[in-house]
Amino acid sequence: MTRTLTLLGATGSIGASTLDLVRRNRDAWQIDALTAHCSAAELAALAIEFGAKLAVVSDESCLPELRDALGSSGIEAAGGRAALVEAAARPVDMTVAAIVGCAGLAPVMAAIERGGTIALANKEALVSAGEMMMEAVSKHGATLLPTDSEHNAIFQCLSGNRMSDVAKITLTASGGPLRTWSAERLHAATPAEAVAHPNWSMGAKISVDSATMMNKGLEYIEAYHLFPVGLEKLGIVIHPQSVIHSMVEFRDRSTLAQLGPSDMRVPIASCLAWPRRMDTPMPALDLAAIGELTFFPPDETRFPATRLAREAIRAGGSAPAILNAANEIAVAAFLAGQIRFTRIAALVEETLARSNDAPRPASLDEVLAVDQSARLQARSLLETNALV
Ligand code: NAD
Ligand code: MG
Repeated sequence: MTRTLTLLGATGSIGASTLDLVRRNRDAWQIDALTAHCSAAELAALAIEFGAKLAVVSDESCLPELRDALGSSGIEAAGGRAALVEAAARPVDMTVAAIVGCAGLAPVMAAIERGGTIALANKEALVSAGEMMMEAVSKHGATLLPTDSEHNAIFQCLSGNRMSDVAKITLTASGGPLRTWSAERLHAATPAEAVAHPNWSMGAKISVDSATMMNKGLEYIEAYHLFPVGLEKLGIVIHPQSVIHSMVEFRDRSTLAQLGPSDMRVPIASCLAWPRRMDTPMPALDLAAIGELTFFPPDETRFPATRLAREAIRAGGSAPAILNAANEIAVAAFLAGQIRFTRIAALVEETLARSNDAPRPASLDEVLAVDQSARLQARSLLETNALV
């Protein structure tokens, strides 16, 4: 049976992994819409290859190039943020949400509001608008399938179990490429060093987030919303091999874990085929070859980001959205060579400290307003060099 699929963020790392699986199962899927921020030539090539009905660039200035590249293919082209939201609102069997950042929030909300089934990789959307998004999911009867490898692992471990029987959910973290670096060395880490992840190949932003451990902080908030067991039952452990993707302990002290290769095609396949299974091109897990699985507690002195995320979700209100927005600005500034690695977390902390203690944003517009003002605050801290 052919199912229809829209892929938001088709030109990214998760987009490429998703399309690789679709390419191997062409009869199973009919692509409706593919989107990108710009990358018009790349997006058009994908749209033509997969016979998409619609291609959308959220940066409207890239629309003429997209139209040119689509030529006489007959594929509809659109541009701008409203067009992106309209694309996400079209009825399809599955939406893969793979835009990076809070920029993905409005289209994800559109897919939720039409009661769709959404494979959610775009963690920043859930961090910024967790309560509102989860309320919309239940109000509109949408289905959220966690695609982030840790949350997909937890989702699989919880299957057939009652949430009330959960004693603890433990997110595993590789610790990133700078895990063993001293505080002094971290200070001078370059963008190239920070994005060189030992186990996973990912987009630049999440690679930096993995190096600072903010990725795990965002994932902690993501888990809080997806699996409502309470913060006291959520933990993090460093597991450098990235073989165990996360685990759930139950009241009887039985722990279920999901293991697999560190390739996002595995959790993406789990979402695409849910509630069934499909083949992936990954080799079988060879535990004897891996040899050792090791575990360490996180070091929040060298990597304060998980502490900041925990404090933000405890504070509630608009704090998680502010944390996320400030982090997006800080990571972009680090990648552009404007700030040092260790200033990323410092900028996030300072932005949180200087933002008003606003109540929880109740609508999409309110979340986007909080996001915008936190970005302005973070940028002005960058410009005034207040954190040197
Ligand atoms: P990426 O940078 O490789 O790709 C991002 C995609 O979003 C691209 O298609 C890009 O054109 C689009 N995009 C970027 N800015 C946009 C904007 N302002 N408006 C609309 N579209 C925009 O990112 P990625 O690594 O594929 O990550 C995507 C999401 O999945 C992130 O939220 C990330 O945290 C999450 N995730 C990624 C991985 C991974 O292995 N890459 C694993 C788990 C979760
Ligand atoms: Mg993850």
